[in-house]
Amino acid sequence: MNVESLAGVAELVGRSRALGDDNTLVVHGGGNTSIKTVGPDHLGRQRPLLVIKASGVDLRTAEADGFVALFLDDLLAAREHRAMDDDDMTRFLAHCRADLGTRRPSIETLLHAFLPSAHVDHVHADAICALTNGLDPEATVRSALGRDVAFVRYRRPGFDLAKEVAAHGGAEAVVLEHHGLVTWAETSDVALARTRDLVLRARLYLEQRMQKRPMRELPSLEPYEVERLLLTLRGRLSADGRRILHVDASGRAVSDRDDAAVVLEAGPATADHLLRTRAFPIVVRTADDILPAVDSAERAAREQWERHRDSAPAGTRMRDVRPVVALVPGLGRIAAGADEKAARVVSEVAARTHAVAATVIDAFGAARALDDKDVFDLEYWPLELAKLAANSERDLETRVFIVTGAASGIGRDVSVALAARGAHVALADLDAVGLARTEAVIHAAGGAALAVRTDVTKTDDIDRLVHDTVMRWGGLDGAVSNAGVAVMGRIEALSLDEWSKSLAVNTTSHFLLTKRVLAALRAQGIGGSLVYIASKNAFSPGEAFGAYSIAKAAEVQLARIVAIEAGRVGVRANVVNPDAVFEGSRLWEGGLREERAAAHHVDPGELEKFYAARSLLGVAVRGSDVAEAVAFCLSDRSSRMTGCVLTVDGGVASAFPR
Ligand code: ZN
Repeated sequence: MNVESLAGVAELVGRSRALGDDNTLVVHGGGNTSIKTVGPDHLGRQRPLLVIKASGVDLRTAEADGFVALFLDDLLAAREHRAMDDDDMTRFLAHCRADLGTRRPSIETLLHAFLPSAHVDHVHADAICALTNGLDPEATVRSALGRDVAFVRYRRPGFDLAKEVAAHGGAEAVVLEHHGLVTWAETSDVALARTRDLVLRARLYLEQRMQKRPMRELPSLEPYEVERLLLTLRGRLSADGRRILHVDASGRAVSDRDDAAVVLEAGPATADHLLRTRAFPIVVRTADDILPAVDSAERAAREQWERHRDSAPAGTRMRDVRPVVALVPGLGRIAAGADEKAARVVSEVAARTHAVAATVIDAFGAARALDDKDVFDLEYWPLELAKLAANSERDLETRVFIVTGAASGIGRDVSVALAARGAHVALADLDAVGLARTEAVIHAAGGAALAVRTDVTKTDDIDRLVHDTVMRWGGLDGAVSNAGVAVMGRIEALSLDEWSKSLAVNTTSHFLLTKRVLAALRAQGIGGSLVYIASKNAFSPGEAFGAYSIAKAAEVQLARIVAIEAGRVGVRANVVNPDAVFEGSRLWEGGLREERAAAHHVDPGELEKFYAARSLLGVAVRGSDVAEAVAFCLSDRSSRMTGCVLTVDGGVASAFPR
């Protein structure tokens, strides 16, 4: 049976998206909506159905395939049960399935089923949560929303909560303490209007009570102080696997309050937020605060585990104890995740939780958080943790690299390949148009890229490139120093300008990038990997190509010096030596093709074939072949390799490394 074809589903999708569009109602993946309808079972009999959002699906972008259909009469039979634990409930729901989809129905499926109305919605609206997170939530809800709205004390979602809410089916709606709102109606439009109306009433009630706080005018942190802070934080948080950081200046509304720590102590606005924001956020003012703050948050998380581990389901292991949210006065909020998308989600959810806590404090003077045991039960709740199950094993995920010369040729192929393996790639080049094209290719494939127009021969440009990269993702794991330029001519014919230009781009730029990247990697303290794209010419120079070949030989020597000097801080440096790559390369423009063809006594149109034919394998070298070697050098698979030269030239005996 196809959920999309059921009566009312199109309307349900529309209503879901309308709710999801407002991030003060639900955060990413939170909230759920349902309808009761009819549809055929596997024997073609028309039966009553509940169609409900699947667990973890984002309401904002929901499609019909984000919903699950279950047999309503089967679901209702559960009302006869006295008790049902999470495992029983999960098994029971699996037996009630009317479709053959693989998505799991929402944890709150029974709650929706037990309410008799055709349309049921459940959101974690900021304003509703704020009403229930003060000192006397029941009285507050009554005076804000009236006696027709029922109040239910906090309990974790599941069978018992579903029964308790069903007992209030005669009310206008139900407010769940530390959790959210449940509304229902006989038509979709009325259900949507009711949610919006109740949230508006809650908001007005809060606004009338909010104490106006004088905004503190804190100076913004200096850019280089922020860079040092991010590198230190990422280094500390990446000890057990790398993290990507996301900085959001909008967090200053909370981070710059003099009671920022009190706001954090108010805990999650709703149970739903805790899954992403975790229990122990930190406040840091400078890079020097980071180590003690993270140590103490991790200690608190371990102690929480020790206090309550006996009550966790058998086989539960301690979760990652690293904090994922930091507030920094003068900067805002920093969130950590496995990649940029995950870090942004954490940041968005934390923004809602902090906004609610600040509202509660300003409206009621103090907040009352979920108690320690309830927090633990949520953090270690198998049904919620299932939403976080890792889905990918791409080897460069959580890594950040800079690639120079990324607008075309090898640099572009390397950038695209690294992004496809999950890396976050800062793209540098002089060619802004080509740069935008590479960035668009990576974004279209769902990858993370940042284009920074850069003249690699200029110290200021290199400085900005590294700084912007750290600001975007919190740190850096290495660089691919690739930008190069072809300078032709016999030594006697070369001008000083031509000679200097080749050295500036083919040697000095690598030095400038290396120097700046090494300083960042040292501050971060978790090592790194540098890859230098040199050339087959470094070992096997060609006639009338001296300025290039000499500069490339110097690049190889630079890499070896870096390997010697930076090994003790875990930074590796390796060289990849390609031979002529034609595909998409701009190196051959401006006469190089004709010049090299003349040097080898072949027709310019035959040059690619000539290079392929002279290699031991008789093959042409492609950008993707070079990218493969680069990805290997950057990854932990080559963790014992430094000061090494890999040839990607199809086999050229005269260019064997020595
Ligand atoms: Zn909920």
